[in-house]
Amino acid sequence: MHQEILRQIPKVDRVLAWERMAALVASHPRPELLAAIRSVLERLRVAVRSGASCELSEDNIVSLVNVELDQRGAPSLRNVVNGTGVVIHTNLGRSPLADDAEEAIRRASRGYSNLEFDLSSGERGTRYVHVEGLVCELTGAEAALVVNNNAAAVILALSSLAQGRDAIVSRGELVEIGGSFRIPEVMLQSGAHLVEVGATNCTHARDYRAAINDATALLLKVHTSNFAMVGFTAEVTVEEMSVMGREAGVPVMVDAGSGCLIDLSAYGIAGEPTVRRYLAGGADVVTFSGDKLLGGPQAGIIAGRRDIVAPMKRHPLLRALRMDKLSLAALEATLRLYRDEWRAVRDIPTLRMLTALPADVSQRADRILGMLRRRLPKAVILLKHKGESSAGGGSLPLLRMPTSLIEVRIGDASVQQIEQSLRQASTPVVGRIHRDRFLLDVRTILDHDLPGLSLSLAETAASLTGGNQ
Ligand SMILES: *Cc1c(COP(=O)(O)O)cnc(C)c1O
Repeated sequence: MHQEILRQIPKVDRVLAWERMAALVASHPRPELLAAIRSVLERLRVAVRSGASCELSEDNIVSLVNVELDQRGAPSLRNVVNGTGVVIHTNLGRSPLADDAEEAIRRASRGYSNLEFDLSSGERGTRYVHVEGLVCELTGAEAALVVNNNAAAVILALSSLAQGRDAIVSRGELVEIGGSFRIPEVMLQSGAHLVEVGATNCTHARDYRAAINDATALLLKVHTSNFAMVGFTAEVTVEEMSVMGREAGVPVMVDAGSGCLIDLSAYGIAGEPTVRRYLAGGADVVTFSGDKLLGGPQAGIIAGRRDIVAPMKRHPLLRALRMDKLSLAALEATLRLYRDEWRAVRDIPTLRMLTALPADVSQRADRILGMLRRRLPKAVILLKHKGESSAGGGSLPLLRMPTSLIEVRIGDASVQQIEQSLRQASTPVVGRIHRDRFLLDVRTILDHDLPGLSLSLAETAASLTGGNQ
């Protein structure tokens, strides 16, 4: 039975010769066209063998080849509309950049730059000078260094400060940050010996004191980032750790994770210490990400005492972990915005989304609904609901921000069909399904997403209603 149908699948040469293929033959290089046809025919064979029923008409095969060519031509890395309400969405690229950062990337990429050239002396310079002063200004640190990401910053700092010696960490802070970043494993890589103290829920100053000895090189505090403990808990503050560190003559390092540079409690977001606070509290060095709460490009920032950062600048690992010029340009531009907190909150998308007031999100939802309803066919029903957004990116795990959601209904399509179709639309739209509703959170939808969102909804409506609206 399958054999019979398999024989009906045409050969590549025959497809190429079809009258209907003439336009494609004229407009595509032959190897590309052949590859697309082969791939379509192979998919059909697989489908037939699996017992699926396939349309083998010329029309259908040509349209499959068209789709295949479009997909091959499209870049793999594409813009996506984030309707999930997770502001720092790691799978969707974490922080969208500010306009200034985007412009800085364009300038730095177009031509040559003084990346490692000192314009005043005419001698070789270092790439780090472009941001070191800004980091120091914004955090109160004496010195700073930037690398590829915070994982790299932690490895460099640990290698430089505690290789072959002990670093003491609380058992309540041995976190895993998604993927494969786990503090115990990162420490192993850096050659620092992990000395665990305390219990999962409670660690006291006396636990550190009992563990400190001649082999101790570092007291390490790790921000728990993506989880929170409630109930009977105790942790040792940076202030207390720095007292013990000074007594023992060892530095205190804080892996702050998110890298918060402004006091968010002024915007109703409590409990996230700024990097400046950690340093003022006595931390000798702090590491943090550039693309979490900071809202910049992927980066790892090390800020702290001059005598502690200086050896890291000479460490052989630095070359392998160094940041590229485009990210550096974006980081400098983002940090500059922080010189004026008001501008930072207005112009850095991550901060703008996190601090947006529920009433403003609601008004924006109304504007977006009005625009979409005017443009979309009747089969698309859009409803407004209340809901909650979250920070994501291993930041502020308990934070829930009141928000406005747009529910999308299309004809009698199921929520799963709507989800899949929007995810695969020409501008992919990612939302969430909750209680059998497909929802888009307005908080994380950017203004420049709106034309793409509107088109993708129209496309989805056409495909799910068979174009009969
Ligand atoms: C996110 C995080 C990291 C890893 O930072 P990346 O910039 O993603 O490499 C390390 N430590 C903590 C505490 C974190 O929250």
